[in-house]
Amino acid sequence: MKVEKMYDTIIIGSGPAGLTAAIYASRAKLKTLVVAGAKWGGQLMLTTEVENFPGLKEAILGPDLMDNMWKQAKRFGAEMIFEDAAAVDFSSKPFKVTAGGKVYEGKSVIIATGASATWLGLESEKRLRGKGVSVCATCDAAFFKDKKVAVVGGGDSAMEEALALSKFAREVKVIHRRDKLRASKILQERAFNDPKIEFIWNSTVQDILGKDRVEGVRLRNVDSNEEFELACDAVFIAIGWKPETEIFKGKIELNQAGYIVAKDTTKTNVEGVFVAGDAQDYRYRQAITAAAAGCMAALDAEKYLEGT
Ligand code: NAP
Repeated sequence: MKVEKMYDTIIIGSGPAGLTAAIYASRAKLKTLVVAGAKWGGQLMLTTEVENFPGLKEAILGPDLMDNMWKQAKRFGAEMIFEDAAAVDFSSKPFKVTAGGKVYEGKSVIIATGASATWLGLESEKRLRGKGVSVCATCDAAFFKDKKVAVVGGGDSAMEEALALSKFAREVKVIHRRDKLRASKILQERAFNDPKIEFIWNSTVQDILGKDRVEGVRLRNVDSNEEFELACDAVFIAIGWKPETEIFKGKIELNQAGYIVAKDTTKTNVEGVFVAGDAQDYRYRQAITAAAAGCMAALDAEKYLEGT
């Protein structure tokens, strides 16, 4: 395969981590390529209003925020291709990234491929995403002050979502498919002791109701098969996350759950390959923390290139 131009840094991924890395790298005069993915922009492209990103006088739509970030990176000379990275070769330098049938060479690479939430797979869930369906209570809980909300899942994420929501919502129903939680004891206890949180056990979500906004959920009791409706204004899906790191398997150190292992902030086990954002961070998962990590990765790449 023909090798395209050589870049100082190739950034794989175009969410807040990738685009912030692109802003910093290109502004530092590094020749920068963003392999953005066929669907660019990351998780914020699936959100409506963002209110907690610093510097916003008013809420901004997630896609608009990402578009601003992209234009900012472009202003400093970053190039972008709208292809998925299909393969990487970190075995020799320069590193190689294959995308759209072409091979791009980079003296350094910043991985910012993110993670995706696991969804229930319902048509209504897709249609009402950002209209009451969410995977981020930290981002969206404040929109549901004094409202009724539901959380789906029984793990640590679900408990954290429920606890975050109980600070705003009038009532929080946790819908779990079994009669036992998977969550750690401490989070279980906190949730059980919260007067606003109630549990609906042994139940699965059959449908999310509402035309333009969430109005409720249709549930099925897995023992009796009985279906019933629960009125609510929002549904927070918290059934797990999957890091987008498939192409890095065997190429870079991943932990058991598939997240990239970072050492000394953004360094991976391959010198010259850095990581930023949710591909590495399973704890905070915020646009601002991803953006901050993108900045750090670009600064680390710049330092690395100065020494090569
Ligand atoms: P998780 O531990 O895999 O839990 C997922 C939950 O969703 C489980 O209760 C599971 O039910 C349920 N679930 C999965 N698929 C479902 C489906 N299709 N329909 C309905 N329910 C479904 O995921 P997580 O809570 O995101 O946690 C992931 C990892 O991050 C864990 O290691 C966790 O400890 C860690 N984490 C830690 C913290 C913390 O320490 N503060 C916070 C968040 C996450 P079953 O139980 O029946 O399988």
